[in-house]
Amino acid sequence: MESTAHVEEGNNESSKNVHRLARLEVKDKQYQDPFLLELKVNVHKQKVMAFELGEEGVLKYQGRLCVPKVDELQERIIEETHSSIHRGSIKMYRHLREVYWLSSMKRCTANFVAKCRNCQQVKVENKRPGGVA
Ligand SMILES: [Zn+2]
Repeated sequence: MESTAHVEEGNNESSKNVHRLARLEVKDKQYQDPFLLELKVNVHKQKVMAFELGEEGVLKYQGRLCVPKVDELQERIIEETHSSIHRGSIKMYRHLREVYWLSSMKRCTANFVAKCRNCQQVKVENKRPGGVA
């Protein structure tokens, strides 16, 4: 029983670290994404109301970090989040949505979970007849 609690604690901790590292990279690389750069300009001109510039000029959408489409950063954030929690695509999407804004988050998340071997195995095991419900 005690060991289970430890595992859960560890997972939470690594998930936090992932977010902390990703935040730094997101902030740096927003300047490399032409789409986000244009958004920043428009936010300055107050043309785009849904987006805002947070501390240190970080672009946010309704309080969520806008993840640039460079260096496969979007894919890596999905991958890192998924490998720490291994949830289905809907739960993953909800989890990510609390922190990040990705231009194609829903599709990326679904694709990634569909490809995850770990999750596919869990599904197969759940479908086995005679298994514990
Ligand atoms: Zn998985």
